[in-house]
Amino acid sequence: MELLLIGGDRRPATSGDAYPLSDPATGETWMEVAAGGVADIDQAVKLADQMRSPWRKVNSRDRTRMLLNLSGLLRSHLEELAQLESRNVGKPIREAREEVELAADCFEYYAGAINKVGGQTIPVAAAGTGLTFREPLGVCGMIAPWNFPLVITAWKVAPALAMGNTIVLKPASLTPLSALRLAELALEAGVPPGVFNVVPGAGSVVGDALIRHPLVRKISFTGSTEIGAQVMRLAADDIKRVTLELGGKSANLVFADADLDKAVPKAMWSVLGNTGQDCCARSRLLVQRPVYDEFLQRLIGQFQALKLGQPRDEQTEIACLVSTGQRDRVLDYISIGQQEGARLACGGTIPTETGAYLQPAIFADVQPEMRIAREEIFGPVLAVIPFDTEAEAVAIANNSFYGLSGSIWTKDISRALRVAKAIETGVISINTGHSVHLEAPFGGVKRSGLGRELGLAALDHYSEMKTVFIAE
Ligand code: NAD
Ligand code: MN
Repeated sequence: MELLLIGGDRRPATSGDAYPLSDPATGETWMEVAAGGVADIDQAVKLADQMRSPWRKVNSRDRTRMLLNLSGLLRSHLEELAQLESRNVGKPIREAREEVELAADCFEYYAGAINKVGGQTIPVAAAGTGLTFREPLGVCGMIAPWNFPLVITAWKVAPALAMGNTIVLKPASLTPLSALRLAELALEAGVPPGVFNVVPGAGSVVGDALIRHPLVRKISFTGSTEIGAQVMRLAADDIKRVTLELGGKSANLVFADADLDKAVPKAMWSVLGNTGQDCCARSRLLVQRPVYDEFLQRLIGQFQALKLGQPRDEQTEIACLVSTGQRDRVLDYISIGQQEGARLACGGTIPTETGAYLQPAIFADVQPEMRIAREEIFGPVLAVIPFDTEAEAVAIANNSFYGLSGSIWTKDISRALRVAKAIETGVISINTGHSVHLEAPFGGVKRSGLGRELGLAALDHYSEMKTVFIAE
């Protein structure tokens, strides 16, 4: 059985409860995981609280070395972690390997920030000296989703540790394995026991207890907008800090002058990466009318040529979804799109009864008001919408509760910048499908979230400013 990790020890849940984990590629039960409860969260938070002072006193050089050690351990355990993540999430092994590298890069980046980011001296008018200190928040509660379990955990844990905070993490119930392994490697890297604790369990129990715990100073949550709103409401009672990374329905805008040879494959991968289970998925493709038919035909060809296969097969381009439950949720949207009158141009069928597989789908001639164009499907489904003018494209893109990511394809640099400024989003990229860079801030506007992860911006969300004045 996979146990909790509290205070440096692997232990069963206080209740003795456990839950089964199934392999999404086969549907078979793979192992049991200890199901944490309120008592386990209480223990973990109290230990993390006791470790605040000792962890804060670790000097900047030693803390840098620990995070660098951890980065190195991630690299030396790359294959083990990639196999674990691939099996647990059902994602292609090639993607899983890249993700372990990204997690290692993340610890390296924040290790380097530790001795370069501090407070300021302020030229106050009064006789004396004004200073700011950057101080840790204390115990940070973290709640992670199942789509990129290791990467998203690294995005939270690395800047939090760098700033001297301690951690209690609740991984998604479906995908607790890589976070537990990460916390073990952190111990091996020299991070003291109790600084980074991991308590798997049900969101409504363990997540809820973490948010309510009075000793927790901050909640960093990545997940759905619906649960994110609950997190924010609960955190309000004692004014806990919150970072929320939530859903998206990002737009990919292709103008008629775009380089289609690049835009077509990127349009596909910017929705199908991680089998569409990506908050940044550009699940709305807006194509300017003069190239609409050609673009669609080429895209359908590429979707049909995809290699669908087992997660750990080296040739696999698209594997399965995280669970049959998620697959069925996506299938519901395929029916909804058809009922709404969108044209299912390819895919949307179940290729095999075993495992959570789904043939990637394209809906063509989608109207912006349709549910498949407005709601986050979180699966391999693309809604293609034609447009005539730039203003129309911007209006369609902005007609969303969400605002997380997006792309613009054009050779006209002025238009690219004009449209980038006009789109309501946290991140946007021009002539690529890729917008997340660990050195740059990442996060959403509107219902896509609050606060920023990554880059130096994340450090502001894991530290508190203290102002000190010394009279002359
Ligand atoms: P989810 O909201 O269902 O769950 C996220 C986490 O919250 C899980 O650990 C879950 O156990 C926990 N949780 C559930 N109910 C809870 C409660 N009542 N109190 C506290 N915690 C609770 O999301 P998911 O299905 O795991 O992930 C998919 C969603 O996450 C999508 O909407 C996706 O867009 C979003 N996401 C966003 C980003 C981003 O960076 N913006 C990244 C990845 C995923
Ligand atoms: Mn969910």
